[in-house]
Amino acid sequence: MSLVCVRCRRPMSAAFATVGEYAYGPKCAKIAGLLPNVSHAPRAPMNQPEVDASQLA
Ligand SMILES: [Zn+2]
Repeated sequence: MSLVCVRCRRPMSAAFATVGEYAYGPKCAKIAGLLPNVSHAPRAPMNQPEVDASQLA
């Protein structure tokens, strides 16, 4: 299946962010101030200790 960004109409393999049924690419999502899909970014397995965000630069 193919997706296109509703903002710039560019084809993309996966939506970076979605609002309702609208899909946005990474650039347009940033421009629109949208957060990425929670399921988009690959995460560490559940058994990994969570990184303390305050320890990151
Ligand atoms: Zn776009």
